[in-house]
Amino acid sequence: MQRSEIKQSFETFCEVAEQFATCMNDNLYVYDIMNDAYFITKGAVERFALPGCLFHDVTENLRACVHPDDFPMLQEDLALLLAGKKSVHELRYRWLGRDGVPIWIICRGRVLQSADGQPWLMLGCINEIGQKQKADNVSGLLGVSSLQEHLKQTDILTDGFVMRIGIDDFRIINERLGVDYGDKVLRQVAQCIESRLLPGQYVYRMISDEFLVLDMAGMENAEIKELYCNIRQEVEQAIVRHNYEAVYTISGGIVNIGDMKKADYEEITRLSEFALGQAKRMGKNQVYTFDREDYEAFLRSRAISRSLRKAVSNDFMGLDVYFQPLVYTNTEELYGAEALLRYQMPDGEKISPLEFIPILEESGLILPVGKWIIRKAADMCKACRKKYPQFRVSINLSYIQLTKGPVFAEVMDALRETGLPPDALIMELTESGYLENSINVQKAWRKFKEAGIQIALDDFGTGYSNLQNIGRFNPDIVKIDRSFTLKALQHSYERQLLSHIINMVHSINLRIVIEGIEEKAEQQQVMELGSDFIQGYYYSMPCSREEFLKKYNIE
Ligand code: C2E
Ligand code: MG
Ligand code: MG
Repeated sequence: MQRSEIKQSFETFCEVAEQFATCMNDNLYVYDIMNDAYFITKGAVERFALPGCLFHDVTENLRACVHPDDFPMLQEDLALLLAGKKSVHELRYRWLGRDGVPIWIICRGRVLQSADGQPWLMLGCINEIGQKQKADNVSGLLGVSSLQEHLKQTDILTDGFVMRIGIDDFRIINERLGVDYGDKVLRQVAQCIESRLLPGQYVYRMISDEFLVLDMAGMENAEIKELYCNIRQEVEQAIVRHNYEAVYTISGGIVNIGDMKKADYEEITRLSEFALGQAKRMGKNQVYTFDREDYEAFLRSRAISRSLRKAVSNDFMGLDVYFQPLVYTNTEELYGAEALLRYQMPDGEKISPLEFIPILEESGLILPVGKWIIRKAADMCKACRKKYPQFRVSINLSYIQLTKGPVFAEVMDALRETGLPPDALIMELTESGYLENSINVQKAWRKFKEAGIQIALDDFGTGYSNLQNIGRFNPDIVKIDRSFTLKALQHSYERQLLSHIINMVHSINLRIVIEGIEEKAEQQQVMELGSDFIQGYYYSMPCSREEFLKKYNIE
């Protein structure tokens, strides 16, 4: 075969491939090995990081489109094909999308030889693995790509809603009853949903145990919630019909199309995932309707959480431990300090601990951060003891540290490494429902006490079972919260109540800290009440280690 004929054939093959590609989802390619030219159909160029439909310098151009880890494997296979050592190509590996995200593909091809037996053209096809699943044979429903097509065919969605339905704790069903039973449950739920849909409503199987109902007709909110309740009822009946083999519930997240900025697949996925997640966070077996304010709060909390994660892995960058002095009520001399965590986001925004500590707790990051605080607090205490030998540092503990972390060992390590006596550190715990109910918390508490570490009951006066907790936890110190202090300073009834509490607490040999004193007048009134220590802006705002040391002329 002559060279000119070869060229013509390559172009003919390219043209034929493009024609075929218009009626299929696959990407067809023609590789002219002799001329180092590569043609791939249009769809591929829209999806992958390719320089165009036709390009030369094939190996180098493919290098830019293939995941770097997979390129050596491709290169090796191509070398064999180009050398005529094999004629069939079949590889599963990752190409890069236009946005740089790896996409698994399967590439198949066959090498045709020229008349003189040399490798000439490779013809083949590239398919994405995992995508394009139009129907789901487990649930019997249409799948994600059918939903995408449905949305593409619909001009602009302005009315209607989507409801994402998820099976609560589906993983447990799979674990306890096996994957086949899990599949049966998925089918059951799919049927329950389908049986309750009205004309104009469609259901698709999304990932894992989730389904999406799409309605373009527009319904009142109450009616949409009723649809959820009807489906839930169907599920309950199905469970009874199957003799309670598996007992499970479903949650639902509703998003009105009108609440979306642009009702495309991405926005529908994002908002419906959030709405379903919210229903689950609220306790499962219920429905939640999308609310923009909740969503903004969720996004903010997620952004803070991500940035905290980065901070922790980046040597706690942006986190700092501040110290606020505690003074003796009578002499106003320095007794110690409370360690208070601070966080500044990379953009400079300072976040309140009231906002970021729950995020640290939820994400589990409170464990490494808590350990770091203990270390910083102990170091500070050691530094202050040079001038104030009795100086003590108070550390706020989260119940997560007490129930899930080795906090006792961490405190003991810090004491050992700094050479401080146990009573140099005070552990503060806030009253909460967790406090009362957790045996682990009580056990940890006892260990601290037995080791001679002091215990403070924080935020006293903000919960209801305060006095009970004094009996239960037997603290050394009780810290009266600013909200209670303020009431006592303003109303005589509360003042008497606080005065009695102080007497009572003193009678069992505990000491009292009054928190949140800002003004001279407040300080004077508090002196009359007879607390042991005062903490508040009146004496000092919480400040960095350096500022604190400077303020008290330490070192
Ligand atoms: P808390 O333990 O009761 O800490 C006292 C809070 O009162 C601190 O707020 C402190 O800055 C504030 N405060 C002190 N004096 C005054 C005053 O005169 N007026 C007013 N208005 N406020 C005053 P902060 O630092 O914002 O911390 C809030 C809460 O966050 C803390 O309450 C504590 O529950 C938690 N927290 C702070 N740091 C940590 C930590 O390292 N670990 C844990 N688990 N929780 C922490
Ligand atoms: Mg505290
Ligand atoms: Mg407090």
